[in-house]
Amino acid sequence: MPELPEVETIKLQLNSVLHGLIIKDVRILKPKSFIGSKEDITGEKIIGLRRFAKILVLDFKNGLSLAIHLKMSGQLVYRGKKQPKNLHIADPLLLSLPNKHTRVIVDFSNGDMLFFNDLRIFGWMRIVKSQTSNLKPQNLEGKYIYLDNLVKNLGPEPFKDLTLNVFRKILKLSNKPVKAVLMDQERISGVGNIYANDSLFLSGIHPKRKATELSVYEINKLYVNLLKVLRDGLKWGGASENNFRDAFGEMGKVQEHFYVYGRDKEKCIRCGETIRKIKLGGRGTFFCPVCQP
Ligand SMILES: [Zn+2]
Repeated sequence: MPELPEVETIKLQLNSVLHGLIIKDVRILKPKSFIGSKEDITGEKIIGLRRFAKILVLDFKNGLSLAIHLKMSGQLVYRGKKQPKNLHIADPLLLSLPNKHTRVIVDFSNGDMLFFNDLRIFGWMRIVKSQTSNLKPQNLEGKYIYLDNLVKNLGPEPFKDLTLNVFRKILKLSNKPVKAVLMDQERISGVGNIYANDSLFLSGIHPKRKATELSVYEINKLYVNLLKVLRDGLKWGGASENNFRDAFGEMGKVQEHFYVYGRDKEKCIRCGETIRKIKLGGRGTFFCPVCQP
């Protein structure tokens, strides 16, 4: 699933190409993937892009926004005048769009297009009311929820409001395995399986240890390493071991730098021990039994 670095990668790229574009039409190929009436955003200009944890938001001039969650396998791919030249497209399905996984196509008045592909169809695009706009949506009272309501259950987010103090309090209050706490979007938002696994490895903490039982020293170390893996994740353009592609259809490179994630039965880069894989909260969990006692 795309996590904070993956969605931020897409946000930064789309921010450079979608700003100021006007929606000409929205072609909904899979009704489940689009919530709202496309007429309410047709003709509207994109005035901003934002990200709330894993949710991407396009803001329109009329006070509405389009919130997008990629869930397990979603992709947002831009094709148009501002796409970089010499793209390296490794995925044959992305050489010509739309493809069999395209669920929604956004057409812009200048001919540019945005493709929402989603193999497993868990992702969505949803029209919401944006509270940050000065203009109030006209005649739409009751039709759409506010963006604030959509994101209100998200916990504090790294690089935003997840300070070390807040992080300490969250861990001290939870009796669950530390990895489950890192991934619980209502406690900490934006962190998923990849960055939870790798930050725990760097911190020498077994994923099953109870969050309440971590020492102050371990919590501090985990905080620093969590920010490190997220920052590196963004630097390497996200992790493309599965479906994630960036907004131009290229692969990120984080998978070339995994510490333990996805490295079942391989050797630990620190001590040479064999990396183990277990299930924890239904998710594949990787650790080194020597480095993470
Ligand atoms: Zn090791």
